[in-house]
Amino acid sequence: MKKFIQRTSLFALPSLLALVSALSLQEGYDDTPFLPGGKWRVHDKSRPRPPLVTPGVGTGAPADAIVLFDGSDLAEWKKGDGDDAEWKLVDGAMEVARTGSIQTKREFGDIQLHIEWRTPPEVQGVSQGRGNSGVFLMGKYEVQILDSYKNESYADGQAAAMYGQTPPAVNASRGPGEWQSYDIVFDAPRFESESGSLASPAIVTVFHNGIVVHHARAFIGATSHRTVAEYKAHANKGPIVLQDHGNPVRFRNIWVREL
Ligand code: MG
Repeated sequence: MKKFIQRTSLFALPSLLALVSALSLQEGYDDTPFLPGGKWRVHDKSRPRPPLVTPGVGTGAPADAIVLFDGSDLAEWKKGDGDDAEWKLVDGAMEVARTGSIQTKREFGDIQLHIEWRTPPEVQGVSQGRGNSGVFLMGKYEVQILDSYKNESYADGQAAAMYGQTPPAVNASRGPGEWQSYDIVFDAPRFESESGSLASPAIVTVFHNGIVVHHARAFIGATSHRTVAEYKAHANKGPIVLQDHGNPVRFRNIWVREL
């Protein structure tokens, strides 16, 4: 054995190492078994590589995101009736101005959404009257915004609740006046083209301040108040709506990626 090692280390070992290293540097395989579906092999060398996306700095927008609000203007937003959005621009944020809810000019289906919001620093009102707003996906499915810091309002109306349906798994709220974030992954519902009946529900995953509070959870239907939500067939895209519930909630750093 000693002799073998001596010999191979002198002659064969370098070429053996070269072979091992060449194998591990190979950019894929064409002799491995097929994955389910039969299109690609395990480690398939001809499978297209994922497209490059430069990530944002911190919570900033990645290169392939649509920036919906960066503090400078309301160009991506309008009122429900199509008129210009009239929310206030303050300190790089926009603030609910009791002029009605606003919605994106663009419409979306399946998305990843990042949004930051802040309820008023001074607590005014109680329960659902305290820093209430909301993010309506497709204009229909609300992820609640509320000052839920030491607020005993009903569970399915707390911040990050699928309003009127499912409370968040935990209350991850920061205090009044502190900036908070939602990172939302949303799958639009699908409807049968003929009958209009529901084929698959709207599904949402929500991180509140970086903490997962809904994981692939289905909406029962379009958000409603004091009734059980129901689905009605609708278009496969819709706007993102930010709710004017009369409380001066602020928003900043909003971006979306279509999935
Ligand atoms: Mg609300």
